[in-house]
Amino acid sequence: MSSHPIPVTKNSQPHLPNFNMDEIAFGKHFTDHMLVADYENGAWKNVEIKPYSPFTLDPSSAVLHYGQTIFEGIKAYKNDKGEVVIFRPDQNFIRFNVSAERMQMPTVPEWIFMEGMKQLINVDKDWIPNKPDASLYIRPFMIATDPFLGVRPSLTYKFMIILGPSGAYFSAPMKIAIEQKYTRATPGGVGFAKNGGNYGASLYPVVLANEKGYDQVLWTDAIEHKLVEEVGMMNVMFVIDGKVITPSLERGTVLKGVTRGSAIILLREMGYEVEERNLSVDEIVAAHKKGVFQEIFGVGTAAVVSMVKQLAHGEYIMDFDVDKMKIAKALKQELNDIRMGVKEDKHHWMVKI
Ligand SMILES: *Cc1c(COP(=O)(O)O)cnc(C)c1O
Repeated sequence: MSSHPIPVTKNSQPHLPNFNMDEIAFGKHFTDHMLVADYENGAWKNVEIKPYSPFTLDPSSAVLHYGQTIFEGIKAYKNDKGEVVIFRPDQNFIRFNVSAERMQMPTVPEWIFMEGMKQLINVDKDWIPNKPDASLYIRPFMIATDPFLGVRPSLTYKFMIILGPSGAYFSAPMKIAIEQKYTRATPGGVGFAKNGGNYGASLYPVVLANEKGYDQVLWTDAIEHKLVEEVGMMNVMFVIDGKVITPSLERGTVLKGVTRGSAIILLREMGYEVEERNLSVDEIVAAHKKGVFQEIFGVGTAAVVSMVKQLAHGEYIMDFDVDKMKIAKALKQELNDIRMGVKEDKHHWMVKI
């Protein structure tokens, strides 16, 4: 199947036979195997698939101190024909290496990332839940492993892929607070990279919002908190007066989501006008006051499309009837149909294993 066969050591004590697929929670359960590769002396080596297990790290490892770590999130599905398919992994591969460059980490060759992912999924394919909407979550990541406390790019790294079954991710409509103090990403910073530090830094403002009864925050620009950027760990889309508007990527503060990019293409094909541009909180509030702010939803791999039922700007509360979110629902259906093989995959987004 591959020009680069990767050695496989089978897990002699698989836990799949004892695993209850009815109890899958996102991010909690992992399959019986993982892929590992080491970077040393300027080259990737020791690429192998082996039993999923903890591993040792020197306490001085660079990743533990200075946060040189990046990741991706991808999903594989069993479609209606029983085939195993992955949604646009080539886009994640490209983004992974964009993140690597920003974090001064080595890029990962395509065969390790893509072939490695396919071969690993093939070994663990029986872990893909056979249920509508369920999937296998794929988490490639890389860490800096130099045992050295000097601040400089590490010379050694570990690249790994782990997999976990993921149930039908029901995302309840969210209550969102527009962030007016804290920042997820700054121009010139690392917001466009999927590096660990971005997520560590986002926890505090989100917990503060949780304490006030909100599920997540709508991130705004770092300088004036006027331009909207993302919602939680998802890209965000607005429908104002029938038009779809999503923040542009220009400032480097919005992550280039694969779901976002796919949604823009599909929505345009479905006949909607889509604008990628700066969108201010003032414009949103004015649209709400005029009664033309119709929908707001997040888009990302984990929940695909997540509707917002309430958006708060300080004391000003905007409520939405999610049952009337026609565009969010149509988009979710379209993406689901393509992934499940119900609709023709015109763009060749689904990669078969
Ligand atoms: C991963 C991520 C997204 C969504 O990207 P997808 O490729 O669609 O999964 C959006 N925003 C942030 C901050 C993310 O980390």
